[in-house]
Amino acid sequence: MVQETIFSKIIAKELPADIVYQDERVTAFRDIDPKAPTHILIIPNKIIPTVNDIEAEDEAVVGYLFSVARKLAKQEGIAENGYRLIINCNQHGGQEVFHLHLHLVGGQPLGPMLSSHG
Ligand code: 5GP
Repeated sequence: MVQETIFSKIIAKELPADIVYQDERVTAFRDIDPKAPTHILIIPNKIIPTVNDIEAEDEAVVGYLFSVARKLAKQEGIAENGYRLIINCNQHGGQEVFHLHLHLVGGQPLGPMLSSHG
């Protein structure tokens, strides 16, 4: 039994969110605490808690997250300058919400991907 999260309630419109795209497979909405001018979360409507939980049958929807990201990047006007796609996994990855989500972040130079190891 997969655990429902705040994102399930956003998909079901039980919680308010600035939804920028939704269909039968995915929902995309603006992050409540944006780290850049564009910060959108793209999530499968099916609850997949983490990348570790992706199963073979989920491969199509996981790929589809990237197609939606590409379209939204164009819609947001950030495709040409570029952007970053991020998926955090578990504690070391800094994951806070256990419903798989692809962060689409852009609209300004984003700096180095990670601080130095050490
Ligand atoms: P994670 O750290 O799990 O990769 O990212 C979770 C993201 O969800 C964070 O960037 C956080 O700001 C965002 N977030 C958490 N709660 C809500 C919410 O209720 N609404 C929206 N729109 N974003 C949320």
